[in-house]
Amino acid sequence: MDTLLKTHNKLEFLHPHHGFAEKVSNLSSSKPQNLELRFGRRKSYVKWSKNGCVKASSSALLELVPETKKENLDFELPMYDPSKGLVVDLAVVGGGPAGLAVAQQVSEAGLSVCSIDPSPKLIWPNNYGVWVDEFESMDLLDCLDTTWSGAVVFIDDQSTKNLGRPYGRVNRKQLKSKMMQKCILNGVKFHQAKVIKVIHEESKSLLICNDGVTVQATVVLDATGFSRCLVQYDKPYNPGYQVAYGILAEVEEHPFDVNKMVFMDWRDSHLNNNMELKERNSRIPTFLYAMPFSSQRIFLEETSLVARPGLRMEDIQERMVARLRHLGIKVKSIEEDERCVIPMGGPLPVLPQRVVGIGGTAGMVHPSTGYMVARTLAAAPIVANSIVQYLGADRNLLGNELSAEVWKDLWPIERRRQREFFCFGMDILLKLDLQGTRRFFNAFFDLEPRYWHGFLSSRLFLPELIFFGLSLFSQASNTSRIEIMGKGTLPLVNMINNLLQDRD
Ligand SMILES: Cc1cc2nc3c(=O)[nH]c(=O)nc-3n(C[C@H](O)[C@H](O)[C@H](O)COP(=O)(O)OP(=O)(O)OC[C@H]3O[C@@H](n4cnc5c(N)ncnc54)[C@H](O)[C@@H]3O)c2cc1C
Repeated sequence: MDTLLKTHNKLEFLHPHHGFAEKVSNLSSSKPQNLELRFGRRKSYVKWSKNGCVKASSSALLELVPETKKENLDFELPMYDPSKGLVVDLAVVGGGPAGLAVAQQVSEAGLSVCSIDPSPKLIWPNNYGVWVDEFESMDLLDCLDTTWSGAVVFIDDQSTKNLGRPYGRVNRKQLKSKMMQKCILNGVKFHQAKVIKVIHEESKSLLICNDGVTVQATVVLDATGFSRCLVQYDKPYNPGYQVAYGILAEVEEHPFDVNKMVFMDWRDSHLNNNMELKERNSRIPTFLYAMPFSSQRIFLEETSLVARPGLRMEDIQERMVARLRHLGIKVKSIEEDERCVIPMGGPLPVLPQRVVGIGGTAGMVHPSTGYMVARTLAAAPIVANSIVQYLGADRNLLGNELSAEVWKDLWPIERRRQREFFCFGMDILLKLDLQGTRRFFNAFFDLEPRYWHGFLSSRLFLPELIFFGLSLFSQASNTSRIEIMGKGTLPLVNMINNLLQDRD
């Protein structure tokens, strides 16, 4: 356990300068835990701080976290043979949802593809949630393992919003298996390594891997998530950070309706006994996101929506412990935990550039929400078709020319404008304290569903986004309007400037 806690501490730093996101998730372990012992120490949830306030400690909760157990898919992978010296049509660096989706679709068109990842069989560690309609439109309903008929938002102790929009948890094993099976069927070859460098020649690129192997490819796709391995940025990287700590836990009981997921719980009465924490939370608030699977099994995640710099993980854990105690949630065991650090907003990569990108590496995270999976899976066919079309016999483009076309299809002007608007949204959220955030979401979820659905799922484009903004403004309380005008004017001017500068 000592080792485990040390590992956790090591990961509690954000890397705002490097723009890295660290994530460790301990996958399901059925190992029985010494619950008597743990709960014999339940009192350690509460500590007295110097000023006499009751302070929640996260250490007892962390002691329930199982040792990391990584689970692999049980597949025989066709491996890339470096001795043949082949130049593949496409090398995909990174086997997350973004990379595999493109590998699958390009190989389907008959092109040769090599997928490079240090752990190609590892089941993705993140607990992904999506709106059901997003997966339905991509015919991926079989890749959701649980769905809720709606979601709930607790604005404060008095006000609750019931959202009639079904939500689902992604069955990441099923989604990855499905993509891998298709890749294998289409002849994709896998190489288990980390890419450390790329060298470009006129008509091909050489990817140098950490095992000494060089993979040669006509097109290189960087899908390495937030590690942004190959894609270049030429502006200072200054994103906001979503930081969250989540546990999939067995609990004695919890107070939530199992038919609804908790999209956001902004209540803060759990902090009434700890004025210091309450004060911190009122400046930079966190909310609870929860997926109740049954009356005794639940995913609970304390989340800072966006902050710059990102909140410390310890701070978030402390708030979570206080919240669970207040809600009467007694954790019996933890199946998995996840530490989530998602860079949001910030500049787009250099457009265009020789390496093409998709997913986290290509600025595709929603700057106001941190969501990305559904948007990326929907964009994968666009990138794949573009590669197939421009590499194919009729166009026959190579090198920079080909990459420029692919980038143009991934980030057309409408999408860049949309992202600029979402970054404007993020800039406002960064300035709101707890009361302001509550007022904002109170108005947001009172909008017509097409507006808030469209905003969250990146379906609104600039003209509609302006109506969305006006609608939000007219829905807002007078205090909120004054606040939006005060805090939003500078971000608005910046957005207009950026929009004017960015032309096709
Ligand atoms: C904890 C967490 C929870 C999230 N939850 C949600 C959610 O609920 N809903 C949602 O929409 N979004 C969510 N996101 C945001 C986003 O959707 C995910 O980060 C998503 O996994 C990004 O997909 P990706 O394919 O771009 O990158 P990743 O999934 O990060 O995959 C990148 C892959 O590249 C590999 N790689 C890295 N460097 C190299 C290299 N040098 N050479 C070769 N391979 C390399 C990695 O090993 C990894 O397999 C979450 C993010 C985190 C961190």
